[in-house]
Amino acid sequence: MAKIASEKITVELMINLYCRRKHGNRSSLCPKCAELKEYALERLDKCPFGDEKPACKECKIHCYDAEKRNQIKDLMRFSGPRMLLYFPYEYVRHKLQ
Ligand SMILES: [Zn+2]
Repeated sequence: MAKIASEKITVELMINLYCRRKHGNRSSLCPKCAELKEYALERLDKCPFGDEKPACKECKIHCYDAEKRNQIKDLMRFSGPRMLLYFPYEYVRHKLQ
């Protein structure tokens, strides 16, 4: 699978997990998480590296604005370790990138 496409899946899983656990939403995301998801997916769509993209934390561009970057950092810290329990394959692939 193409890298951008697989990162989209990973970020979606992480946001879903975060919202479910942190904000108690079962079937849909709260407005804030929904907005963050839209934003993250859009950033991936616009990533100038396309499928050559490095892991976001190693990327020099830092295309997220400051507020969204803090949100996504918090989310990664929360969901990252839990991804191992719920989605081991996605998590490992994310780590390897
Ligand atoms: Zn939420």
